[in-house]
Amino acid sequence: MRLEGKTILITAAGQGIGRAAALACANEGAIVHAADINAETIANLGAENPSITTHVLDVTNPQAILDLAAKLPDLDGLFNCAGFVHHGTILDLSDEDFEFSMNLNVTSMVRMCRAFLPGMLRRAEATGSASILNMASMCSNIKGFPFRLAYGTTKAAVNGLTKSIASDFVSKGIRCNSLNPGTVDTPSLRGRIAAAADPVQAEKDFIARQPMGRLATVDDMTPMIVYLLSDESRFVSGQALLVDGGVTI
Ligand code: NAD
Repeated sequence: MRLEGKTILITAAGQGIGRAAALACANEGAIVHAADINAETIANLGAENPSITTHVLDVTNPQAILDLAAKLPDLDGLFNCAGFVHHGTILDLSDEDFEFSMNLNVTSMVRMCRAFLPGMLRRAEATGSASILNMASMCSNIKGFPFRLAYGTTKAAVNGLTKSIASDFVSKGIRCNSLNPGTVDTPSLRGRIAAAADPVQAEKDFIARQPMGRLATVDDMTPMIVYLLSDESRFVSGQALLVDGGVTI
């Protein structure tokens, strides 16, 4: 029960890493608020673990963020997981594509942190600490990948945002870190594979860039997520933690 007594909000909790994180945190004793834009995918999360309450939230809707912040108790943990992969080089990218990626991958996290930080500061004052975890990627300022201009740019911004928040609030008990995964087998990855001209080859190519010879599972991510949201990581802040199967060795 590494998260006993903690209240944690997770975005994009309907599927993939966010969903696995919601279940892992609840299994470690947290009271979890699981949010997603898709009401259908979060609908049965509460049945899987009664410590999970679900909320429909589009993280690109500023008012919806403020409304949820007004409704929820002060948080001990916030995991900003929502993000989107645009495929293409800079020559394939419209202004609208870029704005969409910036808005979903970065601006939403700025708004989420701004809305929930006052409550987290109150919790940190009462308990000694509160933890923000932002979803970045190994594809960011850490490493470049082909056809990931908007993605790599926005995830690099997530790492910058993370360091800035960590720096501003380190003396107030707030920690802020980012998770930088390798390639994780999730519904959206399956969608990217299916959308390729040759899906069989595309899957082989995704695996080939992982030196450990396989895609990550969502459960390769959850131990790091629980760690960063728990007090076990109490001396860790402003870090871009890689869980990438050795890609950046
Ligand atoms: P996914 O892409 O399969 O699912 C994304 C979830 O986000 C869905 O449940 C969707 O409904 C929700 N969502 C989409 N738009 C939203 C919005 N505006 N507001 C709220 N929720 C919204 O999940 P995933 O592949 O686990 O990706 C989750 C995060 O992990 C993303 O930020 C992604 O960039 C990051 N990531 C994924 C991988 C990977 O290989 N899968 C690698 C590195 C980082």
